[in-house]
Amino acid sequence: MGERRRIVLKMSGEALASSASDETIDASVVERVAGEIAEALAELPLELAVMIGGGNIWRGSTGAGAGMDRATSDSMGMLGTVINALALQDALERKDQPTRVLTAVHMAEVAEPYIRRRAIRHLEKGRVVIFAAGMGNPYFTTDTSAALRAAEIEAELLLKGTHGGVDGVYSADPRLDPSATRFDELSFMDVVAKDLRVMDLTAITFCKDNRVPILVFDVMGPGNLRRALSGERIGTLVR
Ligand code: UDP
Repeated sequence: MGERRRIVLKMSGEALASSASDETIDASVVERVAGEIAEALAELPLELAVMIGGGNIWRGSTGAGAGMDRATSDSMGMLGTVINALALQDALERKDQPTRVLTAVHMAEVAEPYIRRRAIRHLEKGRVVIFAAGMGNPYFTTDTSAALRAAEIEAELLLKGTHGGVDGVYSADPRLDPSATRFDELSFMDVVAKDLRVMDLTAITFCKDNRVPILVFDVMGPGNLRRALSGERIGTLVR
């Protein structure tokens, strides 16, 4: 087998929700994302794992803010990611792209448990691995989980797909400040020192310590996902 790039894509749950309707998961959005992934994999020498978030369904901090037990609220968030993972799996398989959902919280009737060597084996066999339930621990996010899995499976790049119309990392929020400029490339130290919003700080420091480069790009722009997967330098590279 020739050289295949191994990539982890982090997608927020909210990217699967619809701005057009109030659906929690918009089937047409999931279908488009799945289509871009399937096309890219059919053409490019790639191994792809997707870490899917759950913010469209539940965020641990929401419940904790309302007085809920934090760990319980985070468990609810993790379960939300499983719902999204199954939606993405379904859409990918309807594009004839084989997949495996691997959950960090065991639910054997629904999906396989996450086992590192098994994840790698699936990737080698050309299956898209969908990581669900983050890393299985409360107090963490799926951003940090994506960073952890990227290091574990020795991915060469972590793709962080944004969704609010911001196509990379800017000097300020471009939706509020018209003078904001986009960085083509940043160091991890820059991100921390300038307090730039890329991923949460735990994820950033993890990627820094373990040398996992991050490409931040707008996953909602049609064709962007394929571009990012094909190695085009869109968005902002943090390394
Ligand atoms: N979560 C968790 N541990 C993990 C990953 C996720 O407790 O390892 C919970 C946490 O409550 C989080 C929720 O799952 O708020 C949904 O994940 P996240 O907020 O990262 O989703 P996204 O913002 O990417 O949609």
